[in-house]
Amino acid sequence: MLRTPQRPTSLAVLTSGGDAAGMNAAVRAVVRAGLAEGLKVYGVFEGMQGLVDGGDRIQPMSSSDVGGILHQGGTVLGTARCAEFRSREGRRRAARNLVERGIDALVVIGGDGSLTGANLFRNEWPELLEELVAQGEITQTLADSHGRLTLVGMVGSIDNDMFGTDMTIGADTALHRITEAIDAIHSTASSHQRSFVIEVMGRNCGYLALMSAVAAGANWVLIPESPPDTDDWEESMCRALTAGRSIGRRRNLAIVAEGAQDLHGNPITAQHVKEALEERLGEDTRVTSLGHVQRGGAPSAFDRYLSTVLGYAAVEQVIMSPGAEAQLIGIRGHQIISSPLMDCVDKTRAVADVIANQDYEKAMEIRGGSFRDSFRMIRTMVRAQPHAPVPGQRRLRLAVLHGGGPAPGMNTAVRVAVRVGVDRGHTMLAVRNGFQGLGDGDIDEMDWMSVTGWVSRGGAELGTTRFVPTAEAIDRIAGQLESHHIDGLLMIGGWSGYEAAHAFHERRDDSAVFARPIVCLPASINNDLPGTELSIGADTALNNIVSDVDKIKQSAVAARRSFVVEVMGRDCGYLALMSGLATGAERVYLPEEGMSLLDLQNDVNNLKEGFEHGKRLGLVIRSEHSDPVYTTGFIHALFEREGDGLFDVRQAILGHVQQGGDPSPFDRIQATRLASKCVEYLIEEALTEKPTSAFIGLQKGKVRFTPLSEFPALIETGVHRPREQGWMALRPLAKVMARADSPSR
Ligand code: ATP
Ligand code: MG
Repeated sequence: MLRTPQRPTSLAVLTSGGDAAGMNAAVRAVVRAGLAEGLKVYGVFEGMQGLVDGGDRIQPMSSSDVGGILHQGGTVLGTARCAEFRSREGRRRAARNLVERGIDALVVIGGDGSLTGANLFRNEWPELLEELVAQGEITQTLADSHGRLTLVGMVGSIDNDMFGTDMTIGADTALHRITEAIDAIHSTASSHQRSFVIEVMGRNCGYLALMSAVAAGANWVLIPESPPDTDDWEESMCRALTAGRSIGRRRNLAIVAEGAQDLHGNPITAQHVKEALEERLGEDTRVTSLGHVQRGGAPSAFDRYLSTVLGYAAVEQVIMSPGAEAQLIGIRGHQIISSPLMDCVDKTRAVADVIANQDYEKAMEIRGGSFRDSFRMIRTMVRAQPHAPVPGQRRLRLAVLHGGGPAPGMNTAVRVAVRVGVDRGHTMLAVRNGFQGLGDGDIDEMDWMSVTGWVSRGGAELGTTRFVPTAEAIDRIAGQLESHHIDGLLMIGGWSGYEAAHAFHERRDDSAVFARPIVCLPASINNDLPGTELSIGADTALNNIVSDVDKIKQSAVAARRSFVVEVMGRDCGYLALMSGLATGAERVYLPEEGMSLLDLQNDVNNLKEGFEHGKRLGLVIRSEHSDPVYTTGFIHALFEREGDGLFDVRQAILGHVQQGGDPSPFDRIQATRLASKCVEYLIEEALTEKPTSAFIGLQKGKVRFTPLSEFPALIETGVHRPREQGWMALRPLAKVMARADSPSR
């Protein structure tokens, strides 16, 4: 007789299918969250094969077994394709191997195939156990006490092709690899006036191709979901690329997804594209197939974060609903969601069918809003020249400027804003040096080609300042708006930019010039702006921090050493907490929490205890404004003094490297998406009777506008951060991951 499933006491975790960066972080999170819940946690090596083989391929895991793997690509558990698991006999052996160890909960990290197989296994479980009892392999009592298998899945796949999650584990890292490769190819292509065709992975899903085309500023892209709309696609492609050459573009870059096809479902390969370019344009064309480079390398900051939160949530799911229908844990916006696993697999497979049946409209519809936005965007950006203005249309004059500190992705956003505005028939003006420059009338008209190459360029070409205008300066600014006939302003920047825009907008009742629409686009590495979960630049900064901390940790292989790393963020601890999660820091100091002597005392004691028990490496991360007195230097000195003889201490203040470098693919993609929406907003508002002003942002993964007048109400008094910060909810999770770290490693 089956008993009602109880809270499981043991849990097994495995990785299966193709490997993906971030799988290790997911395994680490499952192991540590499981241990923190008092479960016995087993690691299954070599995917489903390990389940079938049993023996030492299923091993209990301790917290230290998953130490030091966060930054490694691939999977330490190994993965395999396993034919035996496809047979009932194989799955019966797997069931026996689990139930003998008292395991009746399984977390699987893999693609659609692995999740389907695991789900079948879960559904068959009661029968498999019956068969094992009948064959005398296990006792009835054992079978009865493990009547149901609890299954929770996470998607590890670089393709980002699964329903039930906005992002799959490994997709962001793959985008990093592709973008780095294309950036490198860019420079050589431009030098030689060559054409390049790049093939990226994605059998049924154009995600990697499309997003890398947005991020790298490609001139043509071919994806499975939306084939070229004519039979003679070679002709339309060549026409567009020739037009580009004729206006002085130095290189042509086409990106082809593995599964790209024409209207009739015939494959379009990178080779086809190359031949077309050589034959029809006589261009020297090279094909680069990125292949396994896309899977490799250290996981990006986002993949480490994603895997960690998903792994943690998977364990919660196991504990909360033992025996329930199998669930898939995914992410939507910044929210963790759980959905019936087989629904997700079925819907995913349905897209493949829709594409195979050449119902492309449906395929694009299923892919969702941001995918469609990006596709539309690409169509505008690949144009060699803008659409001519519609006869009789009102031609607005819209100005773009920055404010606040520099943030990677600012140039990307300006490029898109200029091109979208010009393409809609308007005049786009660039203001140099922010609001200061605006007051001084430092304003130039921008044309289509003036922003060439800006997609991947770090820094801020237009210049930015932290200048917040006084009443007198505001009047001067108003004067410039009048004399340059500026109908609307797009401010791409951070805190001071928001303050300046708000100060100007506050005078809206004084005269019509102050009521002209302003839209602010959040660009700040600190991620300290209201109305958005994320600002442009923060992802790049996070990746900069993570790769530096990886190196810092490696430098300590031999010694027993603790590092105190200081990161930026001003009054906002976002970078500190997120980089702590992504690098495995055991303690993070945040300005939101402050620091006390008692905290420091505890932290010193924890560190000492850790090192006394064989720990070799310590890492604490301190956000720059955590406390005015307990500075990074102070903590360094304190730890050094107290750790005397047991461990030594080094401090690293990362400084401006965090603001520098080329924007990450994610920052480029978001900058592109938000900037285009901002220009649309400005155009609409500038043409209405009573225009409004706003700041744009991502809320629960959706693009939203908040009225600019709400700025003061949404921020904390006296400090630079919003009242509500969703990421603060991650603090308990960070503690669980860290607590497990201290005693053992
Ligand atoms: P990716 O597509 O990202 O490489 P995947 O998980 O889809 O990953 P597959 O090769 O399809 O990769 O599946 C991995 C393993 O999962 C298979 O080798 C097999 O052991 C198991 N598996 C897949 N489908 C089934 C099925 N229908 N029944 C039983 N087991 C399956
Ligand atoms: Mg698959």
